[in-house]
Order: sequence, then C-alpha cells, then structure tokens
Amino acid sequence: MSKKLFIKTFGCAMNTRDSDHIIAELKEKENYSLTENAKEADLIILNTCSVREKPERKLFSEIGIYANIKKPNAKIGICGCTASALGAEIIKKAPSVDFVLGARNVSKITNIIKNPKAVEVEINYDESNYEFCMNTESNIRALINISIGCDKKCSYCIVPHTRGKEISIPLEMILKEAEIRVKNGAKEIILLGQNVNNYGARFSTPPKTTDKKINFTYLLQEISKIKEIKRIKFVSPHPLHMDDEFIEEFARNEKIVKYIHMPLQSGSNKVLKDMKRGYSREWFLDRVNKIKSLCPNVGIGTDIIVAFPNENENDFYDTLEIVKEVEFDTMYSFIYSPRKDTLAFHLKEIDSKIATNRLEILQNLHKQILEKKAKNEINKIHKVMIENIKDTMSEGRSDNGRVIKIQNKKLNLGEIYNVVITNNENGSLFGSLVNV
Ligand code: SF4
Repeated sequence: MSKKLFIKTFGCAMNTRDSDHIIAELKEKENYSLTENAKEADLIILNTCSVREKPERKLFSEIGIYANIKKPNAKIGICGCTASALGAEIIKKAPSVDFVLGARNVSKITNIIKNPKAVEVEINYDESNYEFCMNTESNIRALINISIGCDKKCSYCIVPHTRGKEISIPLEMILKEAEIRVKNGAKEIILLGQNVNNYGARFSTPPKTTDKKINFTYLLQEISKIKEIKRIKFVSPHPLHMDDEFIEEFARNEKIVKYIHMPLQSGSNKVLKDMKRGYSREWFLDRVNKIKSLCPNVGIGTDIIVAFPNENENDFYDTLEIVKEVEFDTMYSFIYSPRKDTLAFHLKEIDSKIATNRLEILQNLHKQILEKKAKNEINKIHKVMIENIKDTMSEGRSDNGRVIKIQNKKLNLGEIYNVVITNNENGSLFGSLVNV
C-alpha cells in the first residue's frame, strides 16, 4: 500500500522544481503517492519561501492549520528557504513539526523522513552532481535546474543566505535530463537558476568538455540541438551578465522564446548602488535597446522594489522614467521588505504611507502601459503554443511570452498554431486560428 504525500509549494520556480524532486524521490524510493487532501496524508510537506517577511510570518499559522487536521501519525516537514533561514527554531516554535530540510539539501529527503526532529540546513551543501529521480508523467513543459545558489550580494536579498553559493550543474546532466523529459512528452524546456546567464562560472567538478567555453550561450546552443524541443525559456537572467554574445544567441536562436525577464529593481543609479546590483540604469537601458534592436517584438518582464531605504522622490521618478521608456510587458513590483541577515536590514525604512503611495503610482502607470500595448496587439499574428485546454477554450503563450486565449477550439497541447489577435478584454488577449 503506498503512503500518501501532501505537498504545498510557496514562492518561485526553483521551489516548484525542488518540490518536483521531493515528489519523485519519495515516489521512486519510498513508495509514496501524491494526494491533494492533507487529511489523508501520511506526510505533509510545506516547501516555503522567505523572499519577503510576510510569507515567513505566515508559516507558523500554516503549520498550525495542518497540525490540527492531520491524521494522528502523519508527519509534518518544513522545506525551502524559510527552513534554511530559521532551521531548528522552527521545531522549537512549532513542536508539531517532525523535520526541517533546507533549500539546498533536497537530496536528503529520503533520509530525513526517517529521523524524527532532524534539521538539515547546510547552506553550502553541494548537490549539483546529484541525479534526482525523475517524474515520468507526461508534461509538455519541463523545468530543469542549471545552477543552484547565488554569489551576488544584493543588499536586500535573503537568497544567498538560504540557497548558498552559486554552482553550475554539469552540462551533461542537464542535456541528459532534457533528453528524458522530451521522451516523456516535453515540448518546452524552462531552464532555472538564480542567475542563469552566469552559467558555467563555477562547477564543483571540472567540466568534461574542455575545448569549448561552457557558458550559458553554449548551453542554449547545445540544448537546442535536441530536435523534439520546440521552445526554450529561462528564469532568471541577471542584467549584469547580458553580454552581446548572449543577446545575439537569444535573438538568433529560433527555439528561444522572445521573452526575457530583466529584474531592474530600481531606475536610480544611487539606489542601484545601495542595492549592490552591480549595474547602472545606462547599462540596463543599453541592454534593453540592444535586445529590442535585434528582436523588435520581444516581451520584457521585470521586478521592481519601491521605497528602498534612502530612495527619495527623484530616485522614484528615475524608476518611473525607465518603466515609461521600456514599457515592460510584465512587472512584479513590491515595497521593500527588510530581511534579517541582509546588508540593508539595519537601514531606516521609508514611511509606509509614502511607500504605499509610490507602489500605487508605479502600478497605475504600468496598468496604462499594458492597456495601450493590448490595444496595439489587435490584428497581430503570433505563434502560440497551447498549454491549457479548459472546456472549449484553448490557452497558450505566444512566441514573445504573451498569454493568448482561443475560444471554441479544443486544440492540441504542446502544438504551435498561428493565431491572429481579435480582441482584448481587460488586458486578456483573445485570438482565432489563421490558416497560413
Ligand atoms: S542576484 Fe541578487 S536578487 Fe537575485 S538571488 Fe542573487 S542576491 Fe538575490
């Protein structure tokens, strides 16, 4: 009889991939099967996020909920970045927790479930050469880790403290995983890392291939050779590592979706310096213009933090100016959240009213930009890969990352269709098939 596993994942794509690994390892080696119902689970895992203070604070109320509804002998395990950040403190504060497994220790899952009250949060544990069991269920999209950790020191960010130093995963392992995933039906590969375009900066074992410079551009070229792969995406590149070679490959390689996430964080050089982002607004804009010159229809996304300590009105307007100039297609925007152990933690926060007001102004500006862009999409033709089918509606993403809905058509998952945009409703784009 298989045991039941309930897993809830918070936060980023890296956490989603870690949860995939946990599920595959427990299925393959410990005879677990997944359940959506925590009440029938033998093991409940919360894979946590601590990028902002709120999710970390919410963790203990979440634990309380599951402790109340769980089966008598069921176990509760806490994984992910909050596990790394708080470690044994979690069990002290919540005795109903059976183990704590840090973000960089996922490969220890089959051992830790057998050790009551165990805490495994080694910050620089190296599992970059560990071959995880693989989920063999058919899926048109495959998330694949290409590196773990981050070597940057952005002054607001907790990730280096929870996911440790940056190590690239051997190229052979990535290509092997991609081959297996396409055999299981994947058409789209999404490469994951904190700074994907810094791939190859450091391996824990010397790369086998020595005659070629193993970097992100080379990885993109090699993975494109797998013919079954139709689309390649990646999350998240760092503006600092957007050299010409990378941008030219991005533009030239037809399999690479012409959508790129460029986390700006702030448009002010003073704030970028305080954030230790390592680039200037001029460099950021230069890279954007280079990409747009080679890919005029490119979709660009970004992350922005408002009200970083010492951000004054002029700094904020510098951010608004860049948003107006670039016209981002996606924007994740937040008020600065002080994180313990980060360099900025002790800096005086900006008044919350001012912070909220700035966020509102920024989000309203972006809303106007999106409305204008949606209007300009009418009658444009896009290559859309179908990702979801709901009743008689098919939904997919365009070759520049936009979500497009096709009504009254049940199309094939993973297939790419030519679609003309017919209308937009509140920013959602609708289209119909074009016979070309
Ligand atoms: S690059 Fe900066 S923001 Fe991104 S994970 Fe690393 S430290 Fe955090």
